[in-house]
Amino acid sequence: MDDQAHAARAMWNQLHNLWQMTPKCQRSLSRMDQTLRQARKEIDWYAVLPAQAAQAVLKTYMQAWKNCWDGRAEEPTFKARIRSVMSVDIPQGRDLQIKRVHRRWGMANIPKVGRVRFRWTRDLPVGKAADKENRITGARLVKDALGWHIAFRVQTLELKPEPHTGLEVGIDAGVNLPLALSDSNHQDHGRAPRLPDGTADRDKLLNPDEKAKLLRLEQRAAHRKSFRKPRERNANRLRTTYDQIKQLRARATRRAVDWQHQTTTSLARTYGTVVVEALTITNMVKSARGTVEEPGKNVRAKSGLNRAISQEAWGRTVTMLTYKTARFGGTLHKVPAPNTSRRCSACGLIAPGSREDQATFVCKNPDCGWEGNADHNAARNILHLYRMGHALIPAAGRAVARRTRGVKPTTAR
Ligand SMILES: [Zn+2]
Repeated sequence: MDDQAHAARAMWNQLHNLWQMTPKCQRSLSRMDQTLRQARKEIDWYAVLPAQAAQAVLKTYMQAWKNCWDGRAEEPTFKARIRSVMSVDIPQGRDLQIKRVHRRWGMANIPKVGRVRFRWTRDLPVGKAADKENRITGARLVKDALGWHIAFRVQTLELKPEPHTGLEVGIDAGVNLPLALSDSNHQDHGRAPRLPDGTADRDKLLNPDEKAKLLRLEQRAAHRKSFRKPRERNANRLRTTYDQIKQLRARATRRAVDWQHQTTTSLARTYGTVVVEALTITNMVKSARGTVEEPGKNVRAKSGLNRAISQEAWGRTVTMLTYKTARFGGTLHKVPAPNTSRRCSACGLIAPGSREDQATFVCKNPDCGWEGNADHNAARNILHLYRMGHALIPAAGRAVARRTRGVKPTTAR
């Protein structure tokens, strides 16, 4: 699988190279396709990747540009060996030949690899349950620190839901609360101890044993790193320690995603109208933090790091809420959110120093004096902005979300 993923990555890079070298007027899908076919003939280790998966690389690459032009993502870039997520596409569902072998296990065919077993975590339309409308149309294999995972693309027929008649709610991605709600029905992980400085614990989804292990591994990594000479490669033992750290972090991420899925489902089921902040940049922390192997410098000093980390997860929450509210007949609205965390949600005053500390908000207006959780205050402001008619229409949100590197954004394409 690793070989296939590396071939797919190399193909992506080759396509990206070609795209950049070709003058704008000569770029075309057929030209890209032709190059891809030629490369598969000439470079023999490309052959490890099935032809269908190679075509999927081209399709994904073109989709990446489309996402960029529509303002959903940044421009596609080269995929570096260490920083990119390894993945292989299986674009045709019938190649998979999925069979359930046990209550918890299934089997699937992976082209050029063979039959593999996978954990059956939810209902899939296979066998008698499959028909023209409900079927598996493909899969994607993705690798993280814990191993390879398979994600199935499923097509199902769903009835158009009745319009949701539930209440309105504003939601803020908090610094202290993962999700603060305007009706103070806040959502928390349940096991989220605070750090002494009041910020949320980054590894809060790990249990005490795992946390102790993580600390031990980090100390070991630091110790081993102290033997490394400048410009020398990481020793194997050091890399092993880094891998173990990555595995623990991957486990925490997995739990976080699980929590997000459960929470967003219950929110979409409960509320008819969900209002969130429109954020422009979701990954502003990436450069500051660096990677596990090459951590960024002065990361703590770079402002709002913890908030930025939670924003990474926040982008995922918004995506989930978007499709889940639609599934339950509700709607999701985005409001531009300057000053939502500094404005008093009771009287509307913006005064410096209203925020007592990270966690509490105290209004400086002598006639008001509203006091409460700072994230709750922001969530109330977000709902208020929506009620005042400040919700972005999708097209406007698109222009706001647009961000390109080196190229001036254009409003029309
Ligand atoms: Zn006030």
